[in-house]
Amino acid sequence: MPKRPSVVSHVPALRRAVRNLRRGGATVALVPTMGALHDGHISLVRLAKRRARRVIVSVFVNPAQFAPNEDFASYPRNLKQDIAMLADAGVDLVWAPDSKTMYPPGFATRIAPEGPAKAGLEDAFRPHFFGGVATVVAKLLTQCTPDVAIFGEKDYQQLKVITRLAADLDLPVKIVGAPIVREKSGLAMSSRNAYLSDTQRAAAATLYRVLKDCAGRIADKELIARVLDEGTAEIERAGFTLDYLEARHADSLAKVETIKDGPLRLLVAARIGATRLIDNVAVP
Ligand code: AMP
Repeated sequence: MPKRPSVVSHVPALRRAVRNLRRGGATVALVPTMGALHDGHISLVRLAKRRARRVIVSVFVNPAQFAPNEDFASYPRNLKQDIAMLADAGVDLVWAPDSKTMYPPGFATRIAPEGPAKAGLEDAFRPHFFGGVATVVAKLLTQCTPDVAIFGEKDYQQLKVITRLAADLDLPVKIVGAPIVREKSGLAMSSRNAYLSDTQRAAAATLYRVLKDCAGRIADKELIARVLDEGTAEIERAGFTLDYLEARHADSLAKVETIKDGPLRLLVAARIGATRLIDNVAVP
């Protein structure tokens, strides 16, 4: 039986637990999550274990990053199963506060990220999102005081926003990005995949297939605008409503005209039924 990690849900207990973890000079990595864990999250834990002696995973479905019309209420939650998975993965500490602990009465501070948070990708469709993410991540980082924090490239724009945030606020933490873990079909693992019917799940594999195809063609010097137009049509034919399919500079997220403006990243967001999926790939 793997050792069950300590689970704490209040800040003073967290501070004590982190002090204990650090005994003997041990380094600490944090993996922030919203729970409903899958192999993508566990790959972040594995990377965290390579980067630090001790690993903390936070599990908090952050109301501040959901708009009223989004899926906060229905977002999948299963802390018991998450803890079992984290025990198997060798996590030392689970930080699982509730909303009142994170946002007690009178809470009145919100970080307003700019730069990559205003790139015109996720922010164009979820204008409240990065403010909520930046605020909660700043709190998680100051609560857990990790040496390293791991974020998935799955949420590519978010990774850029957090990297900027940590630099701008002089947070003494190294932000590390982790590659996307996919289903056999190519579909990027996501807690929201649980919403998909079998038919939608089969259609959802189109996103990665189109991204890979577009990336290959752009690498072969085909015109970016034409490649993305054809990719858009294919995604729509599979039953999606597209929010965006764009080629951007992989670091700055600036708009690009040709492959010479690279390195490039292709990013997509699309809705199928009531489920919104995002994905991205590098242009090789
Ligand atoms: P979430 O629980 O969806 O907020 O995700 C928590 C962290 O896991 C974020 O840094 C995500 O980017 C990362 N993540 C989610 N899905 C994947 C995946 N399929 N592969 C790698 N990282 C992921």
